Amino acid sequence: MDSNDINTTLNSSPFSHSSSPPQPIAPLQVVMSPCAACKILRRRCAEKCVLAPYFPPTEPSKFTIAHKVFGASNIIKFLQKLPESERADAVRSMVYEAGARIRDPIYGCAGVICNLQEQINQLQAQLAKTQAEVVNMQLQQSNLVALICMEMTAQQSMDNFISSIHHNNIGYQNYLNFYEENISLNSLLEPLWT
Ligand SMILES: [Zn+2]
Repeated sequence: MDSNDINTTLNSSPFSHSSSPPQPIAPLQVVMSPCAACKILRRRCAEKCVLAPYFPPTEPSKFTIAHKVFGASNIIKFLQKLPESERADAVRSMVYEAGARIRDPIYGCAGVICNLQEQINQLQAQLAKTQAEVVNMQLQQSNLVALICMEMTAQQSMDNFISSIHHNNIGYQNYLNFYEENISLNSLLEPLWT
């Protein structure tokens, strides 16, 4: 009962008598802001224009560049094949690719990729060289620390020996001990000097 009433009131509204009922707002949009693509192609920008979300009138150069390389009908075909969630990325890459092709008509994007690959290779070589230098410096440092420790030990045993001379009477056994100690220290130090 109620729904029928609503239908009859809707049907009897003054707008329903016109011959094309579903477009009361769309013509206004066309007049207000055709997308950059439609403006450049000089065509009517429909409400469901597939290009409008990605080529706003504020950035006309985006469409000019992509259009120059791919052509409008190809861009439309590409976009129609893709789900809406992937269209923005596709437009970004098309504009980038077209820009690269215009800047470098021979290699296009491949030229940019090759340059970047070369830079990566150079930086990786530089990194490997620096890492080898760091390892080398760490080895030198640990060698130096070991050397200092051994020199300090040698100095200490020498001091001990001298103080033992002063406090006790030097005996043959002390002399022998000192001699043996230094021999063993020298044999430890020797490989570091070479
Ligand atoms: Zn449009």
